[in-house]
Amino acid sequence: MSSLVRRAVSNLRSNFTGKRHLYTSGSNTTGLYGFHQLKSPQGFQRFVDDAIERSGELVDYISGKPSSKEILQAMDEISDTVCTVLDSTTLCRHTHPDREFVQEATKALMRMDEYLHFLNTNQSLYNAVVKAEQDKNLPTLEDKRAASQLRFDFEKGGVHLCSDKLDRVNNLNKDISQLCIEFGENIDKDPGHVDVPASVIPKRLHHLMKPIKRYRSLGSISKNREKEFRIVTEESTLHTILQHVPDDEVRKMAYARGNSVPHVNLAVLDKLIAARHELAQIVGYKSYAEYCMQLNLSSSPDVVYSFLLKMSKLVRPMADEEFEAIWNFKKEKYGQGCGDLEPWDETYLTGLMKSSVSELDFSVVSSYFPLSQCIEGLKLLTESLFGMTFRSIPLADGETWHTDVMKMSLYHPDEGDLGYLYLDLTSRKGKYPGCAHFAIKGGRRISESDYQLPVVALVCNFSKSRYSSTVRLCHSEVETLFHEFGHALHSLLSRTDYQHFSGTRIAFDLAETPSNLFEYYAWDYRVLRTFSKHHSTGEPIPEKLVEALKRAKKMFAATELQRQILYAMVDQKFFGEESSVPKDTVTLFRDLKMQHTSWKHMEGTHWHTRFTHLLNYGAGYYTYLYAKCFAATIWQNICKDDPLSRATGSAIRMGLLQHGGAKDPADLMNDLVGDGILTKLDGGIVPDVSSLYGELGLLSRDPSKSQL
Ligand SMILES: [Zn+2]
Repeated sequence: MSSLVRRAVSNLRSNFTGKRHLYTSGSNTTGLYGFHQLKSPQGFQRFVDDAIERSGELVDYISGKPSSKEILQAMDEISDTVCTVLDSTTLCRHTHPDREFVQEATKALMRMDEYLHFLNTNQSLYNAVVKAEQDKNLPTLEDKRAASQLRFDFEKGGVHLCSDKLDRVNNLNKDISQLCIEFGENIDKDPGHVDVPASVIPKRLHHLMKPIKRYRSLGSISKNREKEFRIVTEESTLHTILQHVPDDEVRKMAYARGNSVPHVNLAVLDKLIAARHELAQIVGYKSYAEYCMQLNLSSSPDVVYSFLLKMSKLVRPMADEEFEAIWNFKKEKYGQGCGDLEPWDETYLTGLMKSSVSELDFSVVSSYFPLSQCIEGLKLLTESLFGMTFRSIPLADGETWHTDVMKMSLYHPDEGDLGYLYLDLTSRKGKYPGCAHFAIKGGRRISESDYQLPVVALVCNFSKSRYSSTVRLCHSEVETLFHEFGHALHSLLSRTDYQHFSGTRIAFDLAETPSNLFEYYAWDYRVLRTFSKHHSTGEPIPEKLVEALKRAKKMFAATELQRQILYAMVDQKFFGEESSVPKDTVTLFRDLKMQHTSWKHMEGTHWHTRFTHLLNYGAGYYTYLYAKCFAATIWQNICKDDPLSRATGSAIRMGLLQHGGAKDPADLMNDLVGDGILTKLDGGIVPDVSSLYGELGLLSRDPSKSQL
């Protein structure tokens, strides 16, 4: 089941009186995440049964023609009921160490997906929503938005089509889900590897390698050859190799291999692009990109592509200068005959340049960021900005999935508990490999006096180093933690009537803005000094170390931005209008890289076969660039002068977080910052880039050309 169909239903909600399966936090014996049904893996069956039963009651209720507002509320409760199951199963599948729980969660997910087909194609629900949308007496703007978005989402699922076309849409949605799963599984199955002599690998990296021995048979005598290592080129090991191995042949081999696996995903991607394109066309759009963007600020792929092209042009001169600087560094280090600057040089040489120019010892940095201190930092930040505390609360029997998990409530002295947060931050085998924010329950108004509190989980994969008994973060991990925390606060502090609009369920090109804004807090010395203390001496982090980190970050900012623009363009081209079928994604990627970056392309590689954002963020990668621009402007205008003040916190909470998706996205941005955050381009809305470009030093070059 594709996320868009799921989103269609997640746009529903209600205040219908009847039996409700509310979250039961705090009882002594409960099930996973506080749901009484989930006391055992088999409880997932009951969880789904209950959700289907409750949704069925609500469907019947809607068929009795209640008022428009009641229709919308009942729809939202259906959405809440279904999403709670889908979100819980998703979290469980990514984090639960017990295979049986994972298997049952997967089965539950599949059953729920089946049921979603029934809901998303239910003509009487659609008719009820259309009627509600036409009702001029809907009391609030949020009600009106809920009605029109619900109708829109139903139509994206093809409910208004004839039965043949609807069947085709349903089949395509199933195919798309399956292809997305395959794409991800192939990446796990085929990470690629290269075998290299042990002598070329620095000792401190040996723990990442698998020793292999080759034997050559000489009659009856076996002769041991030089020891070799196998480098498995999954993404994080590949990054470490590219950053730390001086031997450029090894880096080249690892780069080539890691960027050309899994080959089989080229075919999967072709099918995915074709299926999404057909789906979009049946429903009435020119392309999948257009299909995804209707409710976004950008409103059309042409607007997005114009924005990306202009960004690419603006960033090019500075990215070229950075490229020259890296090449000069290479020539100084290895002599004029060192050859061209190659793609596998970038991470290694920029790492060396950052360390030498900034006199930055990266190994020292993590001494100031024990994980426990970083969590303390998030608590201090919340207290300072919002006058709220994160209070640790005990986990009831059966509620947790691992002994590492902590639970906290977000508490305001006047408003009481505002939501619940699970933290599952350290790595373990079989766990979701990245960092992410998972919703378990969205917030929604149940009655005048009653609000369903949001429940979310932050999941990361921070690990102990080989030299320490505690988990200490490098600075980029601190930044990631703050990013995910921004998502969590968005979910916890939104106060929308409809679950459909809670927290991150906002226009897609605004969803990453709060998280990008909170990244700034991980870079500000006034914030860092409150919690970043040396693990053994307790000394606060020296300001000059933070300054060095910032200098290092800025050194190749244009190159990094150029890379993000390239990824967004690749995503747009893949899911934009078809020029040929199937698209030659390898050539498309190569051409875009050559046109829009300063770097060479290594023939035969196809980096994008591991680009998992093409799955859930298909045609939406550009939203990260939107978020970068918005966050820079918000930081500049609202936070920078006094980032920890209550006034700043109040502006962020009242102006941004509390609205979730309930407010028109352009109004939300304009009311928050005033003029100067949005600008018009080709009939759509794009972010003003001046704050971001000012921050990166791009504006000073030629201000007359910096207008977007
Ligand atoms: Zn994010």
